[in-house]
Amino acid sequence: MDSVQKLYFDALVIGGGIAGLQAALDLADQDFKVAVVERDTSIGGKMIRLSKVFPTLDCSSCITTPKMAAAAHHDNITIFTYCKLNSLDRNGKDLTASVTQHPRYVDPDNCIGCRQCEYSCPIYVADEEEGGFSARKAIYIPFSNAIPQIASMDVENCILCGKCQKVCPTAAIDYFQKPEDFIISAKTAILATGFELTPLENKQQYGSGKIPNVITSLQAERLLAPHGPYNRVLRPSDGMEPDSIAYIQCAGSRDKSMGISYCSRVCCMYAIKQAMLLSGSLPLVDITIYYMDIRAFGKGYEQFYQNAKAMGIEFVKGKVAAIDEGENGSVALHYEDQYRGGVVTKNHDLVVLSLGMIPDWKPEGICPISAASDGFIQTVRPKIAPTRTDMKGVFVAGAAAGPKDIVDSIAEAGAAAMEAAKYLVEINRDRAA
Ligand SMILES: Cc1cc2nc3c(=O)[nH]c(=O)nc-3n(C[C@H](O)[C@H](O)[C@H](O)COP(=O)(O)OP(=O)(O)OC[C@H]3O[C@@H](n4cnc5c(N)ncnc54)[C@H](O)[C@@H]3O)c2cc1C
Ligand code: SF4
Ligand code: SF4
Repeated sequence: MDSVQKLYFDALVIGGGIAGLQAALDLADQDFKVAVVERDTSIGGKMIRLSKVFPTLDCSSCITTPKMAAAAHHDNITIFTYCKLNSLDRNGKDLTASVTQHPRYVDPDNCIGCRQCEYSCPIYVADEEEGGFSARKAIYIPFSNAIPQIASMDVENCILCGKCQKVCPTAAIDYFQKPEDFIISAKTAILATGFELTPLENKQQYGSGKIPNVITSLQAERLLAPHGPYNRVLRPSDGMEPDSIAYIQCAGSRDKSMGISYCSRVCCMYAIKQAMLLSGSLPLVDITIYYMDIRAFGKGYEQFYQNAKAMGIEFVKGKVAAIDEGENGSVALHYEDQYRGGVVTKNHDLVVLSLGMIPDWKPEGICPISAASDGFIQTVRPKIAPTRTDMKGVFVAGAAAGPKDIVDSIAEAGAAAMEAAKYLVEINRDRAA
């Protein structure tokens, strides 16, 4: 343990999504030294994977990429990607995080991001970054604007053919790279570990993820993205352009059969956004949104909803009970029509499930912070200090504290950074006294 490297910072931010990056930038601009620890091979979180964002329909990567670059180039920010947080504890007045950086099997100091390795690799694997709709190689940079631009080898699929090593112009391939353990010591920390979607496998009535033309909302974001897997919207089973698309709301929120009773807050808005974008890409398509209630709570959101209705998107009030695979790749929805009454079956070419949000990370066994009954990080004084956790000097921001859209995640990140800065000023003053 003595040989483990120890690095000192004022603040530690865990998670490099939009909330973590905003919090890090706000602290770094006040001259605090900040470490950002990210689990993935690139920073950017979910937002860098979205197409356009409600309610403005701005290009998501056009907003996220400058923030990612600003954090990566900031003199006061050090970013550690592809890391596992083993523990976060209080050690006297400081916080101590034990971190393991996974091996990329590529020397980060030598890699110049030229992708020659990727082009020469003979192995194709389903690309999770593109919703599994296209392929990547066994050595790859996850997406074109990833930060850092460093390749990583997927050892599960690599066949050790040596082709990448032969073409790499900087001799960066290192088949013998080992995981690296280090300790980060900081005075304060911000948890910005975000969310993941409710697992589709848990919902047997919706096909448990086995019906090819029933996709998740994040897969739909990739179909709509300018550099998406097909460069146009096609249904996965046969590459047909869909004539009829359905959205199923609350597929994993407000649904006790999935153990989730809360509203995920963003699904109504992202479904409406995707429906509007689909109408633009496929002008003749029929789009139906099956909903229980439409929750358009934010500034300008109700108008956004009304605009979608004016564009001809159909809203059907009814909870979809079950989905079956129909003929020729179609998907049959069975639902109770709450206005007209009765159980109705309707076929669509493509179905998108508006899955809800669950916490991506839980503190259990890693740090002594409480999670609330919904599993998200507990905030102890929600009305007075909404970003404060029950661990002294540790704050929370973004979807780590509960389902949230981008506007609220950024606002909360600013609030967490202010709380952390105040805490830093106070303890620095106490130590100087
Ligand atoms: C389909 C879909 C469409 C959406 N569209 C919109 C939209 O149009 N407009 C809008 O306002 N909102 C939208 N949202 C919501 C938006 O994605 C979130 O508000 C936003 O991503 C929250 O940011 P975050 O940084 O809190 O979390 P995330 O984006 O989830 O980032 C969290 C980061 O933390 C990292 N992490 C997790 N655990 C650890 C760990 N243990 N150690 C280190 N790192 C860790 C993750 O890898 C990730 O990089 C959409 C959501 C979905 C699902
Ligand atoms: S590992 Fe080598 S070939 Fe691959 S991106 Fe880096 S420098 Fe280029
Ligand atoms: S050694 Fe592995 S990663 Fe490199 S080219 Fe061969 S299969 Fe691809």
